[in-house]
Amino acid sequence: MEVTVRRGDSFWYYSQLYKIPLQLITDSNRNVNPTALSIGQRVQIPGFVATGYQIRAGDTLWAIARSRNLQLDALLLANPGINPNQIRIGQMIRLPTRITWRLVEGRRNYDHRAMVNDLSRLQNVYPFLQVESIGNSVVGRNIPEVLVGTGGKRVHYNGSFHANEWITTPVLMTFLNDYLLALTNQTGIRGRAALPLYQQSTLSIVPMVNPDGVHLVINGLPPNDPWRSRVIAWNRGSTDFSGWKANIRGVDLNDQFPARWELERARNPKVPGPRDYGGESPLSEPEAIAMANLTRRRDFSRVLAFHTQGQVIYWGFENLEPPESAVLAREFARVSGYEPVKTIESYAGYKDWFIQDWRRPGFTVELGRGTNPLPIAQFDQIYQEALGIFLAGLYS
Ligand SMILES: [Zn+2]
Repeated sequence: MEVTVRRGDSFWYYSQLYKIPLQLITDSNRNVNPTALSIGQRVQIPGFVATGYQIRAGDTLWAIARSRNLQLDALLLANPGINPNQIRIGQMIRLPTRITWRLVEGRRNYDHRAMVNDLSRLQNVYPFLQVESIGNSVVGRNIPEVLVGTGGKRVHYNGSFHANEWITTPVLMTFLNDYLLALTNQTGIRGRAALPLYQQSTLSIVPMVNPDGVHLVINGLPPNDPWRSRVIAWNRGSTDFSGWKANIRGVDLNDQFPARWELERARNPKVPGPRDYGGESPLSEPEAIAMANLTRRRDFSRVLAFHTQGQVIYWGFENLEPPESAVLAREFARVSGYEPVKTIESYAGYKDWFIQDWRRPGFTVELGRGTNPLPIAQFDQIYQEALGIFLAGLYS
């Protein structure tokens, strides 16, 4: 919600007036100098929207504010120039409305368009969120990264490396939404205060690494799509893409990283297909390159890549992981009920490369149980399992 600065206003006063943490107001107005506010300047109040309200017979601003648990000045600030003694029936006013519900609707076929829409809704209500593009998919779909928090612990989560594991995207988006709700409403998640997490960590989320693959699994390909004939051929003539994990060029993005890539190549298909083909060289695909560049640029403290399925947490690679990895894996297992597993015979994955090149904790978390794509009916249960891990990744 936008308000207009009056004489004597300050961010601290807005924080008291709307009961929103001061830091969230400051971070929602990065281009505003809080010590030099000027009258008439526009300021964003996170966690609120202004809804229209039409004055009825018998209304007073005082009663309207009181019935909505607002201070009168919270109403006046949102309605510059209004005279509380001269409101008239039929007049429209702006009613500051605290957002206490999710804006993300995760229980649906969640493709790239759904994610982009939800991100823009979140950004609108929570301007302290930073959304940046890390690159584009083969077809040209934007791959967004969301940043939340200001702390020195740089935590990264990603989802939908694998196309038919797309449920990881709405699960991550729902966590993001619940985190934002807990921050602005100071309600906590699972009994844990959110603001200290915000101050201690900077959370980076790439909710959908492989948007073209997700689009293929959820929507199929129209008859005129330039990729259609190739993709169907790589899918052995089938238009059932429920087994498709790769990007639109038939490259498995989680077999693309330079961490013993040759070993993975040796045991896997040598041609494009729905899964396991690692490309002709490491980091040949734009989605994998975008993730590698992001990871180098951000210097993450730890990374968690979310996949489905198996209720397993993989936490090792070639004994290169630091001792902290085992401790974290035990905590993730404790809060989720998942099984921690050090390694399987698998190479060239994102978390493998992160462990190898940074010697910091990297994890592949296999959410849920069943056959991919996991049915959206499992969404709530998977979210509850994942929530403990999302939180532990920030506080541990
Ligand atoms: Zn996977």
